Amino acid sequence: MTHTAEIISVGTELLLGNIVNTDAMDISQMLSEIGINVYFHTVVGDNPERLKSAVAIARERADIIITTGGLGPTCDDLTKQTLAEAFGKKLIFDEHEAQEIREYFEKRLRSHQMTDNNFQQAMLPEGCVVFHNDHGTAPGCAFEADGVRVLMLPGPPSECVPMFRSCAMPYLRRLSTLEIVSHNIHIFGLGESYVEDKLRDTMLRLKNPTLAPYAKSGEVRLRVTAMAETDGEAEAMMAPVIAEVRSKLGNCVYGIDTDTLENTVFGLLKQQNLTLAAAESCTGGLLSKRVTDLPGASQVYLGGAVTYAVPSKSAILGVPADLIASHGVVSAEVAAAMARGVRERFGSDLGIGITGIAGPDTDESGLPVGTVYVALSAGTGGAVRSLHLGQGRDRVRTAAVNHALDMVRRYLTGLPVDQWEK
Ligand code: ATP
Repeated sequence: MTHTAEIISVGTELLLGNIVNTDAMDISQMLSEIGINVYFHTVVGDNPERLKSAVAIARERADIIITTGGLGPTCDDLTKQTLAEAFGKKLIFDEHEAQEIREYFEKRLRSHQMTDNNFQQAMLPEGCVVFHNDHGTAPGCAFEADGVRVLMLPGPPSECVPMFRSCAMPYLRRLSTLEIVSHNIHIFGLGESYVEDKLRDTMLRLKNPTLAPYAKSGEVRLRVTAMAETDGEAEAMMAPVIAEVRSKLGNCVYGIDTDTLENTVFGLLKQQNLTLAAAESCTGGLLSKRVTDLPGASQVYLGGAVTYAVPSKSAILGVPADLIASHGVVSAEVAAAMARGVRERFGSDLGIGITGIAGPDTDESGLPVGTVYVALSAGTGGAVRSLHLGQGRDRVRTAAVNHALDMVRRYLTGLPVDQWEK
């Protein structure tokens, strides 16, 4: 049987736009990992009447209601009372949780005075399953009433997300005797709408397994999820779907469950015993940061140079000043010379050069914001990718680094890399 969950996020701060509803985002992602559908997110202020009406609507269209927030000790934390009342449950004092709260104050919050209202957090719906809070004082809980499962979690993401993963997910998994297995298909170089267009019919046709897209910082990912008696059966059901995606999207699929482009590149470089160095201008060292975030990166990444001002491109990388004067600092020629220069100076097998305009304003060249050239240099030649990445400084930088990593990935897997010149 498939389940449908609705997330009700409680908090006036959310409605006022003071905070972003990251809890709902994280919970939705975790629900999709275990094959539970989510059709609605609701946000409601700290107001019991409006919360009650949100619950009344949710119970008509979902068999799992998940609330976040409003479990704290203050008078506006009314989620438990409201939900218990809506489902005809009494709140009962849980001595064990009260003791946990006492100990939390003694051990972790020595500087805070514990007040009586903290014990309100130990009032829990009768017969509920308690979700212990390892990162705060308010426990979460789950109960069943009238065919609906109600789960309540604290608002702070540092408490809500770990509690969801360690308590709520196992609880929800037990609702089904079926195994739920999913894989993430990582795609680079195609827009979300293109991917959707190519696969829309497949997505609509599939019920089990399901195929759904989600975008992640300049990349597109698809998640395929199957429910079956055994893991093996689920894998067998997903294999033809993954094969179909690969055949429709070709070599823009760069991995299954591989995490990130930098991880993929790191693995390939290590496997082939090759090294990389990067010269960055508009990305200001972002490529270096992302690669060196990976433990052990020094095995494959020799180093990087942030040659941001024009003269440093000549002084540090040896890019000829007349090349810059004749083609402009944001040009394919300069990107290629940066890649070659950094490869030679670091003595690496591969070099990357990135030069572009991240915005918000253009430079004296007048080129549009988002114009970026990314070059790859290898002993056997090199290639330059000319990009128009649109607006938004962070977006442009992230996308430029993604493209640089993609060029390395394509080179290392023997795929065509743009216009390769010997
Ligand atoms: P507390 O014990 O801290 O009062 P609580 O369960 O009562 O926890 P709230 O009072 O609703 O939770 O929220 C506490 C804080 O958690 C908010 O100020 C906000 O910073 C964060 N928070 C609450 N809800 C969300 C949400 N949906 N997404 C992201 N952050 C949230």
